[in-house]
Amino acid sequence: MIIKLGSGHTAEHVDAVCRLAEAEGLKPVVEYGSLITVICFIGTFNGRYQAIMDQVRTMDGVDEVIKVSAPYKLASWLEHRERTVVDIGNNIRVGGQEVALIAGPCAVESAERLDDIARDVRAAGATILRGGAFKPRTSPYSFRGGGEEALKILRDTGLKYGMATVTEVMDTRQVPLVERYADMFQIGARNMQNFNLLDEVGGTNKPVLLKRGMSATIEDLLMSAEYVLARGNRSVVLCERGIRTFETSTRNTFDVSAVPNLHEKTHLPVIVDPSHATGRPELIPSMALAGIAAGADGVHIEVHNAPKEALSDGPQALLPAQYRELVTQMRRVAEAVGRVIK
Ligand code: PEP
Ligand code: MN
Repeated sequence: MIIKLGSGHTAEHVDAVCRLAEAEGLKPVVEYGSLITVICFIGTFNGRYQAIMDQVRTMDGVDEVIKVSAPYKLASWLEHRERTVVDIGNNIRVGGQEVALIAGPCAVESAERLDDIARDVRAAGATILRGGAFKPRTSPYSFRGGGEEALKILRDTGLKYGMATVTEVMDTRQVPLVERYADMFQIGARNMQNFNLLDEVGGTNKPVLLKRGMSATIEDLLMSAEYVLARGNRSVVLCERGIRTFETSTRNTFDVSAVPNLHEKTHLPVIVDPSHATGRPELIPSMALAGIAAGADGVHIEVHNAPKEALSDGPQALLPAQYRELVTQMRRVAEAVGRVIK
């Protein structure tokens, strides 16, 4: 918040504004000009931004109060200044010093297949198992997911390997069902601005993995997170999964700068998904490492043991052996930037 005191203001007016800041636990920084004085309020507003603004506006000597806060209050770093660590259950967290590894097939296809993949990614170091039961597909004739049966398989496999589970919810009607089986909701890129769905998961107490929409700005993503937070659910993890640009040689364009950019603007954890961001297995390892180097709190990768037979996103899947090798490299980069992969 910036407060401008115009010509004719007195030292007492400046003093009164500074005292108000201090009473609110804020630091007033004063800049004196020849005619005007500018005072900056710095600190944590604890949800009192508007109230303080309204009060300052009525004070003697004050000409103008300029809002410099973000439109997303609950997601804003400036309003909170403490990094959120999201607890997924099973002693698994996203945020903090650890880099979380999320891995699994695009879709849950069968119990045997998921078991094989889960065993391998768990052995490699992943702690969160992914797999879609409801798949958003460009064509209505493509495989659209195994529904509740797939959710049961995901839950049972997660339990067997001591992994938390995350799966996509596409519609408000699916929320109770997904809530029953999974540890974390995934809101996919195509649904990032499905505001009713955001409201609905915001009313639960399960963590939410919110993926950036293909043409969403950083502010759009944060406003969507705000929907979930505003409903009372404070466990939101953001995911950079590539945006659509004019480039056609990759599935999407991986915006790695989104990671530090988001960390500057929000206290929420930020992970990367180089699988959907590139769509090309040969590019995934370097982009995963770049994501960690940029400060990502987690890496989300699709792994399949027979990509040619996969019912969705086979061409971008890493083989379990490639994933294992990548985790070794991710551990090194994590360590180099002061993070850890257990
Ligand atoms: C997925 O995770 O399989 C998926 C469909 O992701 P996105 O919403 O990022 O495309
Ligand atoms: Mn996929």
